[in-house]
Amino acid sequence: MLRIENLHAEIDGKPILKGLNLTLNAGEIHAIMGPNGAGKSTLSYVLAGRQGYEVTEGSVTFMGKDLLGLEPHERAAAGIFLGMQYPVEIPGVSNVQFLRTALNAQRRARGQSEVSAGEFLKLSRAQADALGLSADMLKRPVNVGFSGGEKKRNEMVQMGVLDPALAILDETDSGLDIDALRVVGDGINRIMRKPDKAVLLITHYQRLLDVVKPDFVHVLSAGRIIRSGGPELAHELEREGYGATVEEDQAA
Ligand code: ADP
Ligand code: MG
Ligand code: MG
Repeated sequence: MLRIENLHAEIDGKPILKGLNLTLNAGEIHAIMGPNGAGKSTLSYVLAGRQGYEVTEGSVTFMGKDLLGLEPHERAAAGIFLGMQYPVEIPGVSNVQFLRTALNAQRRARGQSEVSAGEFLKLSRAQADALGLSADMLKRPVNVGFSGGEKKRNEMVQMGVLDPALAILDETDSGLDIDALRVVGDGINRIMRKPDKAVLLITHYQRLLDVVKPDFVHVLSAGRIIRSGGPELAHELEREGYGATVEEDQAA
């Protein structure tokens, strides 16, 4: 589904990603862990096509297409969803308007007809219900005045409505209490744990991985994947920190 080869990217001329390789197959959940400043959020933005992130080398193929040649909205229409570490607030635009516009843009790009008002209402309410957000919150401006946990749950509502093939979730667990973590984690499993979907789950903590069980765990440090393993690697990192892994890589 996603093949990243020798990816180099910079921000304002400063190299951040330095030869990153990663392959995700359909049906797989991959966790990415790593120290602060390693380039995890940068990777998610580069994949989503955010402005200001310049790819200087390497390639990214998504479902057979050259991802880096696509505009951000084309990437979304192709089935990529980005859940951001810091979800943006959009004053003046309600969740309902935002979701319906995003969904219709995706459907038009795929040559499908627009969603009807009734169909959309049912779909968005079902997702909000599943994530424990009230119908009232759907009418409020996107993320404005939402708590950290509500923003993260709202992102999962967006994901549920858009039903992407690939979700890149950047610290979706940050700021969540134990109950919200369970709700959000269950949401990820419900929406994305399917044979034709894949997830790139960026997290610092094992606790989300207890709910959303990854098939593979990778350590991103200084712009590269320096170690990969199964779910047990996350437990090891939680116990021992990143220090030893990073030092071994630097010594090699
Ligand atoms: P992580 O998500 O792993 O904590 P980031 O991808 O956010 O790391 O950041 C990687 C590096 O890029 C850090 O050194 C950070 O300071 C730098 N960086 C991130 N965003 C910017 C920016 N907009 N301008 C300049 N440097 C940035
Ligand atoms: Mg960080
Ligand atoms: Mg980050």
